[in-house]
Amino acid sequence: MNPNPSSSPFASVNQQVLHAAELLGMKPGYRHLLTTCWREIKVSLPVIDDHGDLRIFEGYRVQHNGVRGPYKGGIRYHPEVDLDEVKALASLMTWKCALVNIPFGGAKGGIAVDPKSLSERELQTLTRRFTHSLKSVIGPYQDIPAPDMGTSPKVMGWIMDAYGLVHGYSPAVVTGKPVTVGGIPDRLDATGLGVAIITRGILEAHQETLQGRSVAVQGFGNVGSFAALHLHRMGARIVAVNDVTGVRIDPRGLDVEALVENSGAGRTLAEAATGDFIPGQVHDILATECDILVPAALGHVIHRENAAKIKAKYIVEGANAPITPEADALLLARGTVIVPDILANAGGVVASYFEWAQNIQVHQWSRQENRLELDRFLLSALEDVLRKNRELHVGYREAAFAVGVERVYQAALARGH
Ligand code: NAD
Repeated sequence: MNPNPSSSPFASVNQQVLHAAELLGMKPGYRHLLTTCWREIKVSLPVIDDHGDLRIFEGYRVQHNGVRGPYKGGIRYHPEVDLDEVKALASLMTWKCALVNIPFGGAKGGIAVDPKSLSERELQTLTRRFTHSLKSVIGPYQDIPAPDMGTSPKVMGWIMDAYGLVHGYSPAVVTGKPVTVGGIPDRLDATGLGVAIITRGILEAHQETLQGRSVAVQGFGNVGSFAALHLHRMGARIVAVNDVTGVRIDPRGLDVEALVENSGAGRTLAEAATGDFIPGQVHDILATECDILVPAALGHVIHRENAAKIKAKYIVEGANAPITPEADALLLARGTVIVPDILANAGGVVASYFEWAQNIQVHQWSRQENRLELDRFLLSALEDVLRKNRELHVGYREAAFAVGVERVYQAALARGH
């Protein structure tokens, strides 16, 4: 995907962190602290498959920085998962949690596997093995996993159960669980809803409105489908969405409610009969004629080679790290407004924080309380970014990193580091 294989995702994130450290005048020792992961774990996971054969998978958990609270971060099941990418995503979680001001540090985990190639029994066995391997480093006050690409509430339920077999009933060990075992009603929507809330907020900050604005979304999984749905409900016109099977297009606006209904629960856009469908990856969704582009699939999909093709004025990063630093610079020079991942897709971790807090208090908030609090946390982070952007005269990504890095730095100082 990224034509420049020498650019490491972790090095790219650290470039942002060091830039923020520079803006804040931080001493070298702290720069080192914030660009280093505290713990990196790699495990081998043996699973007997449905044919009786033994297969070995590789799993990772990286805990980046915990000065602001227990580690928090998703678990990704994808064939391209590797240690460097997991370190990059763990670091992003540190800055994201600090930016939205929730009491967590950053972590990430994953297994190099295509979950669609496994049966449900194989997937559950693999998940239980992974949880068992991590049983002494995760926990409600230690490290709290959540869903990411290729994982789901069902997988989180298995993690809770496997951890509970060793430590006793502990719903707060993992978030994004099914509602029947301590999940919260709208957790599944939260990242995509957050993308929509932030998109509307950024347009308002630019004296514009979402009404009638055209949007293209890359990826129609958890983040992309709910981002499309909530942007549509807020008045935007979704003109193109894609996934691994192909793209659905309608310049007049797709019927997103029908798309979500027909492609949900692991189904694909190929099966959702609304809008014109072009199978495969022939159509380049990133080059769609639209006002707002939401990359919501993989990292580093926008790079030096394709950045010039992008026509959207706004890019809202639903995915983590969808733009390489080189492409970021090219787009900013052209006047594209980029809303960074650590702000745009923070809705999921904010809702995870609510779920964790409710599990710990053994108390449930109403649906409306969860929704109001989500708005409050996200809009407050957006305000902080806009303020930093005015104060330092920098782009939104630099401003967002400056807010996050400053909070982590202050916490490190307060703890006597
Ligand atoms: P998901 O597995 O639910 O969906 C991924 C989607 O991307 C699928 O529709 C898949 O078909 C599509 N896709 C994969 N490769 C593609 C390609 N080359 N072109 C077009 N589409 C492609 O994953 P998700 O949970 O929605 O995560 C998507 C991104 O958002 C990831 O970068 C993830 O780290 C980030 N993210 C997720 C959450 C969350 O709560 N799930 C929170 C924050 C950030």
